[in-house]
Amino acid sequence: MQRTQQLAELQTGKRFDLLVIGGGATGCGIALDAAARGLNVALVEKNDFAEGTSSRSTKLLHGGVRYLEAAVKKLDWVQYNLVREGLRERALLLQNAPHLSRRIQLVTPLYSWWDVPYVFTGLKFYDLLAGKKNIGHSRLLGKISALQRFPMLKSEGLKAGVLYYDGQFLDARMALALALTAQRQGAIIANHVEVTALRKQAGRISGAQLVDRLSGQEWQMQARGVINATGPFTDQVRQLDDPTAAPLLKTSSGIHIVLDKEFAPPATGLMIPETEDGRVLFVLPWEGHALVGTTDEPARVAEHPRASEEEVDYLLRHVARYFDLHVRREDVKAVWSGLRPLVIDPQAQDTATLARTHVIQQSDSGLLTITGGKWTAYRQMAEDVVDRGIKAFRLAPQFSCKTRSMMLLGGDGFAEDADLCLQDKYGLESTVARHLNRAYGDRAKEVCALAEQHGLKARLHPAHPYLEAEVVYAVRHELAARVADILVRRLSLGLVDK
Ligand code: FAD
Repeated sequence: MQRTQQLAELQTGKRFDLLVIGGGATGCGIALDAAARGLNVALVEKNDFAEGTSSRSTKLLHGGVRYLEAAVKKLDWVQYNLVREGLRERALLLQNAPHLSRRIQLVTPLYSWWDVPYVFTGLKFYDLLAGKKNIGHSRLLGKISALQRFPMLKSEGLKAGVLYYDGQFLDARMALALALTAQRQGAIIANHVEVTALRKQAGRISGAQLVDRLSGQEWQMQARGVINATGPFTDQVRQLDDPTAAPLLKTSSGIHIVLDKEFAPPATGLMIPETEDGRVLFVLPWEGHALVGTTDEPARVAEHPRASEEEVDYLLRHVARYFDLHVRREDVKAVWSGLRPLVIDPQAQDTATLARTHVIQQSDSGLLTITGGKWTAYRQMAEDVVDRGIKAFRLAPQFSCKTRSMMLLGGDGFAEDADLCLQDKYGLESTVARHLNRAYGDRAKEVCALAEQHGLKARLHPAHPYLEAEVVYAVRHELAARVADILVRRLSLGLVDK
């Protein structure tokens, strides 16, 4: 269904079971969970799906090696459960969206003998916690073998490396796949629609005031329950309900820079779990390029957060300090910044130490808010909040939660080697066929058929594998409404090469 039809469905005056505000990982996950239970759901996103934090992540599906260290050192049960949840959800996403996710090898170089048993044991424990859902066994690499495989590691003082596994995914397309799968399950999903006010009856929230940001049209809609899944904007929406609500969040910004593939370690990510100033530093292969991150600085909520030159300099300095990579400012092809929605903990010393747990809170007038967490855990977050909403709003679902085993759009008929068939059948270059197979899964043939039918087989840019046909497909089948919706989120072009 195209965007105009979705808008018309939102304007019929019908009362929905649930209105979900926010079309990032959390909101799209909720819409899918609730629609699959047979509830009548609407989701609105004021920009494009995943335009907020959910397209600006490191794109790792992980349990969180750092949280595990905190769990063991401080005997912290919350952090321990967070790691277990992350490891379980990592496996579910790899299973349910095989086209958009994959297993990735990561290597941590070790420069002190003491770190060798410490980090190795920690990562073995990480494997153990994953249990049957483990995706690969960690192992030690000797200095010579580590250097042979990763010449960009600093050799001076290197003692060994530890190789371990996590997941990597296309975050913006994953959020879109959630939204489109929710739509298939009957949810009404609209981007560029903002909730500007909440409606109440007898002190209880009964709906919302909406505006289509593209046309300026305003209307009201009714819902039995409203879920606030607005990430960094959580407190702003809570204050639409209660202007005196105390903040629940602290936001911190994290930036990434993208470099040419000559800087990427082949098929393996390099990870420094803790730099001298307590940050994570990594160089990951991503979309044929090298993804470098990240920072963690307190930041104000902004609709389009921008990376500062100081943050870019910080990353370039740290890359030079930790790796044998000579990166200049002009090697940076793209930069982006995202805001972490971190739940306030009065004990925490800084944003880097705030736990990445999620919280669910209900206001006196019934607004259900879910915030915090991480991309990897979106499914569990959605299940938890929909369970809560069913009770709070006295909803009558037809089914119990189905998302543990539900394939996301494109995943069902996906095969790793289907790119070879696309290459043969449509005469595509191998990089183009690989990209289409990964980005669209079993729908890649629809894109190819469209390309053939309308003569849209040319690349948008010779250095990138995206086809002209994808632009048309994004508008017709993937709810894209603006140029940036296509260039940055349906295709990764805007994130890879500005
Ligand atoms: P968002 O994606 O921000 O979505 C909220 C949406 O609500 C926004 O799109 C916004 O436009 C919309 N909205 C706000 N107000 C309104 C309104 N009034 N009406 C309609 N819509 C509204 N997690 C991982 O698991 N792995 C990682 O590797 C990872 N890396 C990260 C790296 C960085 C630098 C950062 C910042 C985060 C990272 N995370 C990672 C965390 C993860 O990205 C976030 O937890 C997740 O994306 C949050 O999703 P969300 O849907 O809650 O928020």
